[in-house]
Amino acid sequence: MNLKEILTSVKDTDDLLIGSGVIENCASLFRKHWPGKNGLIVADSNTWAAGGERLGTLLDGEGIFLLPPLIFGVPPLLHADYTGVELIINQVVNPRDTILIAVGSGTINDLVKRASFELNQEYLCFGTAASMDGYCSSGAALARDGLKQTLACPAPKVIVADTDILKTAPGASSAAGYGDLASKLTAGADWIIADFTGDDPIDESVWNIVQPRLGVWLAEPAKLRAGNPDVLAAVFEGLNFSGLAMQVLGRSRAASGAEHLFSHIWEMSGHLGADGNPVSHGFQVSLGILCVTALMEEVFRLKAHEIDIEQALRQYPSWDSRVLEIESFMGCFPSYTEYFDICREKYLSRDELQIKLSRLKEGWEELKSNVWKKLPHYSEMKSMLELAGCPVSPGDINLDRATALSTYRKAQCMRNRYTILDLAYELGILDRCVGRIDRNQLYLN
Ligand SMILES: [Zn+2]
Repeated sequence: MNLKEILTSVKDTDDLLIGSGVIENCASLFRKHWPGKNGLIVADSNTWAAGGERLGTLLDGEGIFLLPPLIFGVPPLLHADYTGVELIINQVVNPRDTILIAVGSGTINDLVKRASFELNQEYLCFGTAASMDGYCSSGAALARDGLKQTLACPAPKVIVADTDILKTAPGASSAAGYGDLASKLTAGADWIIADFTGDDPIDESVWNIVQPRLGVWLAEPAKLRAGNPDVLAAVFEGLNFSGLAMQVLGRSRAASGAEHLFSHIWEMSGHLGADGNPVSHGFQVSLGILCVTALMEEVFRLKAHEIDIEQALRQYPSWDSRVLEIESFMGCFPSYTEYFDICREKYLSRDELQIKLSRLKEGWEELKSNVWKKLPHYSEMKSMLELAGCPVSPGDINLDRATALSTYRKAQCMRNRYTILDLAYELGILDRCVGRIDRNQLYLN
């Protein structure tokens, strides 16, 4: 599918425009979608300076009436918190005639996304950093009543990113975007595995939106780090195509695999970087990618004849033992009982496990070769991430190696989405593989 075909097959987003100088096209896009409506720019003090102010001048010059902008900074401070949504809503006097314009990346976009939904309006997102794939995904990750959750809301109607502005964003944000985009490699490998086991068949049209193009989008990590506008445009495009693929599929399988589970665990644990601030999503995911790639290498080291079905069946716990296991790994989280239901859904009977493992053993070499056609090996993955400026060892995100290693078992309990973690668990080799990763100093160092 080309971009036009993708945009016609998603329900929320109609226009995605990326390039040098495309800030000039915003007025005509605004008029095309919302003729006669007023605009209200929501930015933070950085994104206002980076492009918000200029966008305002351009829209005003083209005769679009703008309400006074809402600029988060000092004060009100910008937090991924529902109170920001209320602040925005309070600013809108006449919701029927006002279209919000988000100027920023993750948090600004999430706040405006949810506020627009509550105001029953579409919105325009003007992206200022190629930092994550959430621009055109539905849902906003915001804390409400102290609890981080994904609040329902549609993706933006229009997304614009001017590479002249993307290149002024801090280097760490583009690196984070590169990490989030590289996660589609491990996510793709996980989908190949889940397709093979029959747990989650690949949707070819969704697969083709992201996977065949990944090599091109990820090809120039060093140039990305140097702020090359063409490479920034490629990464921004890749991130947005990933978001669109999620829109088409209606769930995040298209863009997220086991590496995201590692990031979710660290986020839920309240993990902070050395500067005391939360570690960016893309940076957590980068380390998650390396954890997962190391596991892929250890699992697929196994030859078909070494798959011991009898041993795996003996090792597979009874449900009562499984409950104790989940408690021991997830008991540190306040809402850990929800993982009983998640794990129950993917718990297999002995017969089911036996049939699954026999099929796996039969097709093992084929599966292995399909995974390695998709996934770079650990050393290559590490050097790509390193060149882009992404973290490549636990210490780079202020995590110790033992904590990173202890995340494998937690992540396996986290979601009912079949990944390499489940494959290793069902084969009865997850602990053994993590032990080998621990002993091999090439991994996660
Ligand atoms: Zn992500």
